[in-house]
Amino acid sequence: MKKQYAVIGLGRFGGSICKALLSHGVEVLAIDRSEERVNKFAAIATYAVVADATDEATLKNLGIRNFDHVIVAIGEDIQASILTTLMLVEQGVKHVTAKAQNDYHGKVLNKIGAHMVVHPERDMGVRIAHNIISENVLDYLEISDEYSIIELRAGRKINGRSLVELNVRAKYGCNIVAIKREGDINVSPLADEIIKTGDVVIVIGADTDINRLERAWFDNE
Ligand code: ATP
Repeated sequence: MKKQYAVIGLGRFGGSICKALLSHGVEVLAIDRSEERVNKFAAIATYAVVADATDEATLKNLGIRNFDHVIVAIGEDIQASILTTLMLVEQGVKHVTAKAQNDYHGKVLNKIGAHMVVHPERDMGVRIAHNIISENVLDYLEISDEYSIIELRAGRKINGRSLVELNVRAKYGCNIVAIKREGDINVSPLADEIIKTGDVVIVIGADTDINRLERAWFDNE
């Protein structure tokens, strides 16, 4: 059976999740208390309903507990977001992802049992800042408070060097997990792989180690 998803709150974030899920061909129930917002999704979502998600009976009537994954994309009304998340968890939804407006909101959502809490504005801000500070950083993904995956564009300093020469594991405690070159991606680069200027090198490691590596690879370029 196809997996069933529900998105509660059809603002920019919820709306974009809803469209992306639909583009993957899965079934999506789109919910918002605003009729205007729901009307925008009526033609594309599998089902679209006007409902206040903080109303327990409404959630039950929608059979929300049978959905595989429910995304709570209510931002501004923090109380409504918390109450909705709590009821979804209590009703036994297997996977609840909730959008946090700030760190405190995120902490509460974690405490009441959301399976995943996302901070889209904060995370996007961090990614863009990395990009602005260093033009060699193409993308950045935080995997925990201390560890990240970073995409770096190889510059002059490492041009022509092999992975074994660069020796990032011993020197910086990081690992090169993949190399992108001219549209191809090599996810298991060998030790004798030679890096060329313009390659995109994907590195995983502790933030402090990645910073050391970045300084060594790019300072005075
Ligand atoms: P975004 O930052 O994603 O653009 P937004 O600022 O447009 O969000 P928010 O206030 O964060 O809007 O809420 C997102 C949506 O959630 C709105 O369309 C709002 O109508 C809906 N919403 C808020 N509370 C509820 C609720 N209790 N039940 C259902 N929908 C709700």
